[in-house]
Amino acid sequence: MKSRGWVIRILYALAGLVAIGICAASVALLWIDRRVTWESAYVAARNLTGVLAADISRTLHVYDLALQGVVERLHEPGLARVNAETQHRFLFDRFATAEYLGVIGVIDKDGNVLYDSSSLTPSTLNFSDRDYFTVHRDADDAGMYVSRPYLSRLRDGDESIAISRRLSNPDGSFAGIVVGSLRLQYFRDRFAQVSIGEHDAITVFRNDGVVVLRNPYSSADIGSEFDASLDFQQYLIRREGAFVGILSPDGVNRLHAFAAIDRTPLVIAVALAVEEVLAPWVRRAILIVPVTLALFFSVMAQIVLFRREMRTRRAFEVQLKAQAQTDGLTGIANRRTFDQTLSREWQDARREGEPIALLFLDADRFKLFNDRYGHQEGDELLKMLAMVLKQKARRPRDLAARYGGEEFVVLLPKTSKQQAARIAETIRRAIAELRVPHEDSEGGIVTVSIGVAAIVPQAEGSPSELVEAADSAVYQAKESGRNRVVVA
Ligand code: GH3
Ligand code: MG
Ligand code: MG
Repeated sequence: MKSRGWVIRILYALAGLVAIGICAASVALLWIDRRVTWESAYVAARNLTGVLAADISRTLHVYDLALQGVVERLHEPGLARVNAETQHRFLFDRFATAEYLGVIGVIDKDGNVLYDSSSLTPSTLNFSDRDYFTVHRDADDAGMYVSRPYLSRLRDGDESIAISRRLSNPDGSFAGIVVGSLRLQYFRDRFAQVSIGEHDAITVFRNDGVVVLRNPYSSADIGSEFDASLDFQQYLIRREGAFVGILSPDGVNRLHAFAAIDRTPLVIAVALAVEEVLAPWVRRAILIVPVTLALFFSVMAQIVLFRREMRTRRAFEVQLKAQAQTDGLTGIANRRTFDQTLSREWQDARREGEPIALLFLDADRFKLFNDRYGHQEGDELLKMLAMVLKQKARRPRDLAARYGGEEFVVLLPKTSKQQAARIAETIRRAIAELRVPHEDSEGGIVTVSIGVAAIVPQAEGSPSELVEAADSAVYQAKESGRNRVVVA
C-alpha cells in the first residue's frame, strides 16, 4: 500500500514534468525564433543602409570632383582672353550631362550668374538668397556644401538639391561660388529599386536635421527638420547603428538603422515597422501556441482523470476492507477480526506481562425465541445485543465481535479477572433491563449467559486457551440456570 503511494506520486511528478516540459520547449522555441527573425531584419536593414550610403556617396563625390575641376579651370590665366564659346567648352567640357545632374553654374560675389553649363547666355536671375550661396559668402571653410532641397528656378520647379564650393580671390576674400544641382528624382529612383514594406521608410537628411528626402514620398517632409530630440542625437553621435523607437508622428514603432554617407554631411536611415518585421514570427506563434496549450491541457486532464480513478478505487478498497472486517448483520467486528485481534493482543500482553480478559456471551433459549417470534425478530434481537456490547466495550483497545450464531465475545486487553467480571455483570444486567419479552425463557424476558476468563499469557501458551476457558465458563453458566456470569 505504502510503496504503491510512492509509485503514484512519481507518476504524477513525471506527468507534471511532461506538461511543464512541453510548455518550456515551446516558449524556448518561440523565443529563439523571435530572436532569429529580429536579427535577420536588423542585418537586412544595416545592409540596406550600407549599400544605399555607398551609392549616394560615390555619386556626390563624382559630382564634387566635377565642381572642383571647374574651380581649378576658372583660375587659368588665359580664360579671359578667349571668346564666350571657347570659355564655355573649356569650363564644362568634361562635365558629362548625366541623367540626374542638373546644371553647373558659376556665380559671382553678388549672386549673379557668370557661367551656366546649360547655356551660352547665362540667366539674369539673382541667387544671392540661396543657402548654398550665403554659406560660402559668410564663411571660407564650408568645403563641399549640400543645400536644403528647393524648387529649381531654371528647370520648371524640379525638386533639387545643390552642392556648392567657394571661389576665393588670391587674398582669400569671397569671389563667388561654383554650384551644381542634383534632381531629387535620383534618390527616388534609387529607393524604388529596394523593396521595403508598407510601413517602412527610407530617409536621407543632413546632419543638422534637415530632411532631404523621404520614401515613401511626401512633399511635406522635404526640407522639414527633425526635432533635435534624443533620438536624433543618436544619429549624430555614431557614424552608423540601429535603435528601436517611435520617431514619426504616425506613432509606429520602428527599427531604425542608419549610416553616415561618406564624404558628405548626409545621413541615411532605414526604418522598418516592428510589427511588420515580427509578422512572420507572429504567424508561426499563432500555430504553435494553441498546439502547445492543447498538449498541456490534455496532459493535465489525464492527471485529473487518473487521480479521480485512483480515488474511486481507493474508496472502494477501503469499503471492501471494512466489509471484510465486520459482521454483515450486526455491524460489529466479525470472527476473522476477532481472531486476528486476539492473537495480536495476546502477543502484546505476553511481552508486557499484562493480563488479557475475554467475555464469552451466549443468548439464552434463543432457538425457542426464533421458534416463537420468527427468525426476523431473532435477527433484530442479535443487533440489539451487539449494540449493548459495543456501548460497554468502551476503551480504545476493547473489541466486541460476533463469534457466530447467537454467540458474542468481548476482548478486554490489560484487564484483570475481577474487572472483567464486573464488566460482564454490567452487560448481563443491561440486557436484562431491556426487558425484551421471551415467553419461553425462565424469566419471561431475553437474557444472556456470560463466561469470563482472564490470563497473563505465558511463552508456551496460545490464545485458544483463553477462548476455551471462557467457553467452558458459559457452559457452566448454562448448567447452573442461565442469566448469569461465571468466572473461569
Ligand atoms: P441455550 O440457552 O442453551 O443457549 O439455548 P439456545 O437455544 O440459545 O441454544 P442453541 O445453540 O441450541 O440454539 C442456537 C440457535 O440460535 C440456533 C439458531 O436457530 C439460532 N441462530 C443462530 N444464528 C442465528 C441468526 O443469525 N439469526 C437468527 N435469527 N437465529 C440464529
Ligand atoms: Mg449457542
Ligand atoms: Mg444460546
